[in-house]
Formats: sequence, C-alpha cells, structure tokens
Amino acid sequence: LVGEEQADVLRSPQEREVLERITGFVDRIISDVTPEEVCDFIDRGVDSPGDKYWTLDPIDGTKGFLRGAQYACALAYVEGGEVQLGVLGCPNMSPELTEDIGGEGTLLFAKRGQGSWISSLRNRDKQFSPLRTSSRSNPEDARLMRSFESGHTNVSQVDLFHQALGGKADPVLMDSQVKYALLAAGRGEVYLRFLSPDMLDYKEKIWDQAAGSIIVEEAGGKVTDLDGKPLDFSQGRSLTGNRGICATNGHLHEAAISALREIDS
Ligand code: AMP
Ligand code: MG
Repeated sequence: LVGEEQADVLRSPQEREVLERITGFVDRIISDVTPEEVCDFIDRGVDSPGDKYWTLDPIDGTKGFLRGAQYACALAYVEGGEVQLGVLGCPNMSPELTEDIGGEGTLLFAKRGQGSWISSLRNRDKQFSPLRTSSRSNPEDARLMRSFESGHTNVSQVDLFHQALGGKADPVLMDSQVKYALLAAGRGEVYLRFLSPDMLDYKEKIWDQAAGSIIVEEAGGKVTDLDGKPLDFSQGRSLTGNRGICATNGHLHEAAISALREIDS
C-alpha cells in the first residue's frame, strides 16, 4: 500500500490530543483501536511501490475539503505500471454531477476492460450505471477544467491553451480528482495539469492520478502527460517519467496535444 500520509507528526507529544481525536473516529469502525495502532495504519503507506500495489489518497484536494468545496477519497490498484482498478468517493459531489455541493455524494469505480461505473455514495440502494465521456469533437465546444488552486497549475498557460484550442466556455476551476469524475461523465472535455512556474520540476504523485485516470479511460477518454506520453505508474511514488497531465474525452485528445505543442514553441 502506497499512501500520501505519514504519522511522524501525530506521534509527537504536542499532537497527542489530535491523535486521540482521530483515534476516536477510527474507533467507530475498529473498536478498541489504540492511538499507536492508528499511527501504524497510517505508516503502512510510506513504502515505495513494487510491481503490484494499492495506492490511497484519503483526502485528495485538502484545500477544497477545508473550503467546503470538492475533494475525493481515491484508491487504486496498479500492476506492471498500469492502473487496473480505481475507486473515487466524492462526498461533496451530487450523483447527477452538477456542481452543487453536498447531497448524497458520488461513488465511482473502474476496472480495466470492464468500464466505469457511478452510483450514490450514501444511498446504498442505488444501482451503478455506466459512465461515458462526452461525444464533443469540435474544439470550440470543449469545456476545460483546471485546479482551483492557481499554485497547482500555470494560469497563463491555461489561458494560452484555451486560445490555441479555440474553446468558448470559461474554464471550470475545481479541486481534486473530482475533475476526472466530471470528465468521465461527459460534463467536461479537457482536464489539464500544467506545471506551476514556481515548481517546474514538480512530478505528479501516483495517488493523485491513478484512480481518476482509469475512470476516465474506461469511460472512453484518454489520459497522457502534456507531451502525449502514457502515464507510467512503475517509477516510484511519483510519475517521474511524465510531465503534467492532459486528460480528454478521447475525441479531443489530438487537438489538445497539438494546442499544447503550439503554445510550447
Ligand atoms: P488539485 O486540487 O487538482 O490541484 O489537486 C490536488 C493535489 O495537487 C494535491 O493532492 C497535491 O498533492 C497536488 N499538488 C500539490 N502541489 C502541487 C503543485 N505545485 N503542482 C501540482 N499539483 C500539486
Ligand atoms: Mg492528493
């Protein structure tokens, strides 16, 4: 299991009160759990991935979570550098995937070769339905998505890209892998992760992209890096062989990669 979190800070005496509160929450699921066991659970995720591994981001989009906006719980299984299974829980996204906050929450999953599926997170009686990316193939009609946090992307590159592609609608700003959920459900066409000008050597973390990317691919979309290269999940805790992310509904991928080349030169 490879995860983003580690328990070093929680183990320090100053954080004892926080650890005890967290233990109280975990105790609702695992009775009589001790604070030390909770730290050990968290630290199960500190290793580097091998050939087969699970990767977990318990709260993807922490900034969105703190603002009461979108965030996701993301779990994926990877084998041979390729994601095989992905699950996204989106507690603040309605199952209709409108941008209203709250409601029942959304649960999505995908298995390689078996499609992408969506249901309600809190209403367990609701059936899963298949997801399909949008059929829009005219770049003018592309709805673009990017991080809400401008420090996680490059806003002027997003604008340049938008002009190069010729999209008319304003880009949608949203936190976390919920953007992949919208893309998979046909609510947007292009999702880009440009590198922040302050962190040009940033490498995407595997847990931030694994679950969302397979959900888009199995819904008919395409996910590569900004150079059009497939994502390689066999390079450790980050996608060290890739630069940024370009995810599309599939139909607009070539147009998006050409627009990226145009603005790069
Ligand atoms: P988003 O809300 O789409 O920006 O995605 C949130 C994720 O962005 C977090 O889980 C962080 O791991 C990741 N992140 C943090 N800093 C950066 C950065 N400078 N560039 C790109 N992603 C980042
Ligand atoms: Mg994250």
